[in-house]
Parts: sequence; structure tokens; C-alpha cells
Amino acid sequence: METIRFDELNLSAPILRAVAEMGFEAVSPIQAQAIPAQMEGRDMIGQAQTGTGKTAAFGIPLLQKIDPEDKKIQAIILLPTRELAIQVAEEIRRLAKFMHKIKVLPVYGGQDIGRQIRSLKEGVQVVIGTPGRVMDHMRRRTIRVDHVHTAVLDEADEMLNMGFLEDMETILSQLPQERQTVMFSATMPSAIADIAKRFQHEPVMVRVVKKELTVPEVTQYYYEVKPKNKVEVLCRLMDLYSPKLSVVFCNTKKGVDELVQALQGRGYFAEGLHGDLKQEQRDRVMNGFRNGRTEILVATDVAARGIDVDDVEAVFNYDIPQDDEYYVHRIGRTGRAGRVGKAFSLVVGKEVYKLRDIQRYCKTKIIPQAIPSLDDITDIKVEKALDQVRDMLETADLGPMINILEQKLIEEDYTALDLAAALLKINMGEDNEDIIDNFEPARSLDDLDRYRRDDRRYGRGGYGGRYGRGGYGHDDRYGRDGGRGRRRGSVERAAVDYVTGQDMARLFVNIGRAQNVSPGDILGAIAGEAGIPGRVVGSIDMYDGYTFVDVPGQYSAQVLKAMEHAKIKGKNVRIEMAKRN
Ligand code: AMP
Repeated sequence: METIRFDELNLSAPILRAVAEMGFEAVSPIQAQAIPAQMEGRDMIGQAQTGTGKTAAFGIPLLQKIDPEDKKIQAIILLPTRELAIQVAEEIRRLAKFMHKIKVLPVYGGQDIGRQIRSLKEGVQVVIGTPGRVMDHMRRRTIRVDHVHTAVLDEADEMLNMGFLEDMETILSQLPQERQTVMFSATMPSAIADIAKRFQHEPVMVRVVKKELTVPEVTQYYYEVKPKNKVEVLCRLMDLYSPKLSVVFCNTKKGVDELVQALQGRGYFAEGLHGDLKQEQRDRVMNGFRNGRTEILVATDVAARGIDVDDVEAVFNYDIPQDDEYYVHRIGRTGRAGRVGKAFSLVVGKEVYKLRDIQRYCKTKIIPQAIPSLDDITDIKVEKALDQVRDMLETADLGPMINILEQKLIEEDYTALDLAAALLKINMGEDNEDIIDNFEPARSLDDLDRYRRDDRRYGRGGYGGRYGRGGYGHDDRYGRDGGRGRRRGSVERAAVDYVTGQDMARLFVNIGRAQNVSPGDILGAIAGEAGIPGRVVGSIDMYDGYTFVDVPGQYSAQVLKAMEHAKIKGKNVRIEMAKRN
């Protein structure tokens, strides 16, 4: 992997400053090709998904061409949705942060047109809009195009899918002939080639050519999350799987610094590694990681290249990498020297399509998982605390402590159990508020197109509509209060799911804590092998030599069959229906 820095691209000082402030460490692969091509003034077709850095790939050359003294519209970016218009406008504003006279405005259907007209009148050089609304403004002459020298079609295939073909054609045919036309599209259907032929002049085709890569043998999971929950989800996964050493990848230097701060603030032993560090600092961080003082290394792709640590147990893609090849490099940091590694990816919104591309290209399997619930985490933390207690009981002289406590029990009206419970609670730290309300089932990457169609059919406006609806899920499966009691008391009893009332079948698995497996391992194996979403799996009650797992009755046969020859953490297991009493 060759790294190109932004200062090698002949960019203006204000853009370089903005890019540095955004924390970008290197040019992404699509940017490496697309930025120079556009700066030569060529028309271009770029094939790239969201998440590859494509907005900056067209945004940077476009901003370089804007004359700040000319208050007329000079560039029009067309894109399919309001959500994207807002995102792209934000990204371009960030890139234009030090270009004070440049004004950027998103215009989309559904927003008060009067307000848009007032903003347009103030003088805007870059308009970012959905085709319908842009046409509307052109008809009203509130958008005039005679100074437009750059047109961008972003997510052209999506605009096509949403029925904007005619609008795109009308807009393009009214723009000045003398202009640069750039198009980005994830796929290249023939209608796109048609638009290119009619509205572009000898376009260069730009995409990242993929090398054949060997994907390391690593179990890979992904979680759909909201941006605001990323830190919390990462911490839950750290708690659930408790890898000794792990590497967490962020796409930017700024991302690394912020995450390290957040993790340290929550008491994790985390350090960051990126290109702004001096050699001494790098050495200090790497030494800490090698000798286990630092358990979590947070790094950018470029910085992580030099990491030569063999016993990394887990890799976390806190940000989805901008390129498929990065993904393979990242997960290759674990599972080395014959060890079994795990990789966890957090995806936000449309990034899930990027992950699907990665899965296809790498011919690998990335298994959807539900975010572990607070109850799951509480169980794990209690177990850890009790393990420490057992150790202490076996090794320490507790005589003086027992004397003190006996005194207290006589003086005050507590039971020994009350005291133990209070001490346990103190040991576990503050209660986390359960803010995660992402209750949709985890979706297989292979089925994404189907989900998307369903979303449309039910009028939920594509992907974005999945969020923000109520419902239940893994997280509040047990209800808030009653649940824990049920869980504790439910050994060897087939359960009824607390919320759905669904019949659950209780399965017996012949391994448990003593074999060094965690509930997460069992959940992962069952969901992965049987191809069922992790969130439908109910209680996992783990004991020293065995574990009980609740699955919906309808899946029990499927799970038993799938697990017949399966291994969990490399161990052969026997799984059968639990005997009821
Ligand atoms: P996009 O593909 O435009 O949706 O970009 C996805 C994310 O990548 C955005 O948050 C960008 O700010 C970020 N990004 C763009 N270029 C780079 C880069 N060279 N390095 C790191 N992050 C980037």
C-alpha cells in the first residue's frame, strides 16, 4: 500500500489546512486518482461507494476552482436524498472552512422553499441539491446557472433508481456547455453510461483496482450502530469479549485522539498511534502495548503498518475502512502465528453497503450481531468480580476484615447479603444508562438489497428509515427490572420471552466457564453457524462445565443441526435440548 500525503497533490493552502484540521492522515485510494484527474480539468466518472472518501474526492478539486469574488453559483452538485445533501454540504463546508468567502447551500424538497430563496439571494457559489428541488429553483429563476463551471452527479445510480433521470437530463442540458462534469456512482448500469455519453466529454474512468488478497482466518462480526453510541458499543464489546490485546482502527488522526480520550476516561488502558507522533512517543506506545501495559491500541491505517505484535486477540474497526484492501490488512493484525482472532466492525447507516462490498470482494463472511445488552455486560462484570472474590477467599487472610464486618452487622441492621451486594455494586462502578435503542434485527450483508426493497415498499424512505422507530430488541429483552430475576432463576426451564411472549427452547451446551469460553463465544457460534440473527438468542446462563442457551422454538432444530459438528473456540461441543424439570 502506497501512501500519498495531501501536500503532494498541489492543493491550495486553505484546503491543506482544512484537511489537516479534519485529521486526515493520507489521501484515500479513490482520492489519489480522482483529485489529480479533476485538477487537470477532465470530465470524470468515479466508481466508489459511500465511505471511500468520495465527497472530498470531488469536493476538493471543485473548491479549488471556485472564484471567491464571484458571488454567482459556480458549482452544482446533484444527489438523491435530503440526508445526503446535508451530509455533503457539511463535508464541503468543513473543507472550505478557511476559504472565507465561499458559501455553500443544500437545497432539497420538504424544506421551506422561501427560506432557501432568501439564502440563495445572499450569494451562494456551491449549490448541493436533489434534482426535483434544483429544477424548481431553476424554473423560478432563483437558481441561475450561467456562471456554473462544475457539475457533479453524486450517487448517480441512486438518482436513477429514484426516478430522477429526466430531471438530471433537464438540468444538465441547461448548464453552460463550457463546464466540467463529474459523476460518482457505486454501480455502472447502462443508463449511466448513456448520461456520460451525452453530457460528458471524453471522461476518465476512475476506480480502485483490486488486488487478489488472501483473507486471514479471522471470525468477523459487525454491529449496526448510531454515531452517538459508538464508544458505548465498543466498550460493551471490550467487556463482553475481554481481549487481552486489541487494536482499534480509526480513519483519522483526530478520531484516534478522541477515542483514546473517551476510552481512558472510562478506565480502559488505551493509547493512540498516528502520524503526528514523534518517534519517541511511538516507541513508548508500542513498548507499552508489547508488554501488555496498554491493552488497547487505537491507530490509523498508516500508523498501524509497523505493528509487529503477534498476540493481538481482536481487531475493532471503529470506523469502516475507506478501502477493501485496508480491511484485509487490518484484520490480518489478529489471528497471527496460528492463533484464533476476532474482528469487530461498527457500521453506521449506509456504511453497511461498503461492508457488503468488502465481504463480496474478500469472499469472506462478516456475521451480523446484535449489540450486547447491558444485562449481558452486567452478568460478565459480576462474574469477573466474583472470580476476584474467589481468588481472594483462597489466598488472603481475611480475619481482620471479618472482625470489622461482624461488628457492623451487630451495630447496624444489615444482613451479610445486603453488605455483599452493596460492595459488589461499588466494585462494578457507575450504572450506565441504557441509551442504545437500535432495536432492529441484525441484517445479513447478503440480504441487504432485499431489506432495502422492503424499506421502500413500506414507505420508510430507504435505509434511513430503519432508525427511530420504537419496538423492542435484544437490549430490553428482559424488561428493566423483572428480567434479571427471571434470568437467575430460570435454570433448566424452557422460557417464554419476556417481551414477545414467544416460546423459547432451552438448549444445553457441554462447555462453560471452566473451558475458557464466554457467552459471546457461544452467541457468536450459534448465530454464525445456524445463520440466525444474534438478537433472537435469549438468555445465556453459563456455569463452570456447561451452559444453557434460550433460542426461539422455531429455530431450535436448525440450531441443533448446524451445531452438530461445530466447534466453539476450537473445542468440540455437544449441544442438545435441555432436560426440563
Ligand atoms: P465519504 O465517502 O465522502 O462518505 O466519506 C466518508 C468519511 O471519510 C467522511 O467522514 C470523510 O470526512 C472521511 N474522509 C474523507 N477523506 C478522508 C481521508 N483521506 N482520510 C480520512 N478520512 C477521510
